Amino acid sequence: MDMYKKGDCLTVTIEDLDTDGQGIGKADGYTLFVKDALVGDVVKVKIMKAKKNYAFARLEEVITPSSYRIEPKCEHHRRCGGCQLQCLSYEAQLAFKEKKVRNNLMRIGGFPEEKISEVMQPIIGMEVPFYYRNKAQYPIGTDKKTGKPVAGFYAQRTHDIIANTDCALGVSENKIILEKILAWMEECRVSAYDEITHNGLVRHVLIRKGFVSGELMVCLVVNGRELPQIGKLIESLKEVPGMKSISLSVNRENTNVIMGTTIRTLWGNDTIEDTLGGIKFRISPLSFYQVNPVQTEKLYAKAVEFAGLTGKETVWDLYCGIGTISLFMAKNAGKVYGVEIIPEAIEDAKGNAERNGFTNTEFFVGKAEEVLPKFYERVSREGDTKGALFGEQIEENVSGSDRSLRDAKQATDMLHPDVIVVDPPRKGCDVQCLDTMLKMQPKRIVYVSCDSATLARDLKILCEGGYELKKAVCVDMFGQTGHVETVVLLSQQKPDDVIEVEIELDELDLTSAESKATYAEIKDYVLKEHGLKVSNLYISQVKRKCGIEVGENYNLPKSEDSRQPQCPEEKEKAIKDALEHFGMV
Ligand code: SAH
Repeated sequence: MDMYKKGDCLTVTIEDLDTDGQGIGKADGYTLFVKDALVGDVVKVKIMKAKKNYAFARLEEVITPSSYRIEPKCEHHRRCGGCQLQCLSYEAQLAFKEKKVRNNLMRIGGFPEEKISEVMQPIIGMEVPFYYRNKAQYPIGTDKKTGKPVAGFYAQRTHDIIANTDCALGVSENKIILEKILAWMEECRVSAYDEITHNGLVRHVLIRKGFVSGELMVCLVVNGRELPQIGKLIESLKEVPGMKSISLSVNRENTNVIMGTTIRTLWGNDTIEDTLGGIKFRISPLSFYQVNPVQTEKLYAKAVEFAGLTGKETVWDLYCGIGTISLFMAKNAGKVYGVEIIPEAIEDAKGNAERNGFTNTEFFVGKAEEVLPKFYERVSREGDTKGALFGEQIEENVSGSDRSLRDAKQATDMLHPDVIVVDPPRKGCDVQCLDTMLKMQPKRIVYVSCDSATLARDLKILCEGGYELKKAVCVDMFGQTGHVETVVLLSQQKPDDVIEVEIELDELDLTSAESKATYAEIKDYVLKEHGLKVSNLYISQVKRKCGIEVGENYNLPKSEDSRQPQCPEEKEKAIKDALEHFGMV
């Protein structure tokens, strides 16, 4: 079918939105994708790119507006790549996002619609869906006509700068700060960077604000080591109420990466501070920190609620960044272990934990899909509880058996934690990571996701592996854009959820079972058949698990709160095999 070609104009009714918020219309079986057109709009469009069954078309005119269409706040919204949904009423934006997540859970996750309706809570929207971003990165360029420096945004899919110092998603201080910088550039003849010639100095301005603290940070990204007359700029910027940190980042590379790798503080502190859920975080120009702090608190509160903490639990927080979710969990859990790929973020996480007085957190640098399987292998297979917990150097640091006993108990708790939280980037979790999570059998999994397609893909794997979808809720962190965050709770389906078996106690002949094989015989068998060394303690633990009475001396703790190492899974299997071999179970 070759009905339409580039340049054709036609009128079409928009029936749906795709996952990016583009309008979808149908004309003679042809699917048209129309940016900036909304469900319910009747629009005149021009075909820009035609394929066999679909085409991309440009919105030329809204003939009959959709009932969801509203007056956009920002005149630049169609050219700027930032806000895809500004013409859609906020209520309709929320409905669009929820529907997108539901569809992905159904189509990709394979969950029945009724199940999703049963578990899904209403989307948590913003009170004011504007001015919510605590971070802005403005590119700086030169106006072609006037030759003056400008700050603004890249036009969608290009690097042309649209001059605009007052983005409606950001804070009001952005405009004040940018105008001061532009005025100084003009006065002191400081050039703006030019991407094509790689000449000029000022590339970007990063502004961050602590919403609770009111503290402000400005970082100028510069194609050079120094800036002329920087003193004048500092004098001007430090007048802005809340200004706490002014810094310079040198980026002389010919790249799209915004920030340089080093930061030099020109005035004030190296970091600003902000508070989330009563916990203080220090933020440097390079730190990852959620951009919508008001909604982040709601998101994390949901994650904590879903985790079902009572103060004793062992929790893993995978993809932990600077430890924000970890610390929210640590307020209500026994112990929290964070894993994150970026070493600097882990340094921040440790610092944040320490400054807030947390003593129940530990952080590990590495890929979740490497750290977790490695840890699991070492503890479950090799029974190496000490090394796997604290790194190789621990062998020298451990003195006294008490410490190693406590560590071993901790290792077992880590191996089978109460909760695993994951908050991966858009590509979701690596399958290695999911596999190990399944082996670890946490009671609950809390999945925080910024991409519901990969979320649905991963939930499918986890649910096929023995978990059940219990709760889900969307949180809107990015109003006016097509993005949405989702938190999901999965629970372990215990075997007794499926089958209930009642065993009468007198069916078990305890005394005869106990007499069948000695500890030494069991040890020999396990060593010969499985190549594993097991202790009397482990044998007694497994016997007890199997309902076989054991002698007093082996597994009674010395005092109420003294803890013992628990038999690793691999060894437990081997011991059970021996018990079966000797006809004891
Ligand atoms: N939970 C944090 C950060 C979430 S963003 C918060 O809410 O602030 C996702 C994080 O995953 C980023 O910090 C990123 O650096 C990290 N990351 C990306 N790939 C990873 C991997 N394979 N293993 C561990 N962490 C990873």
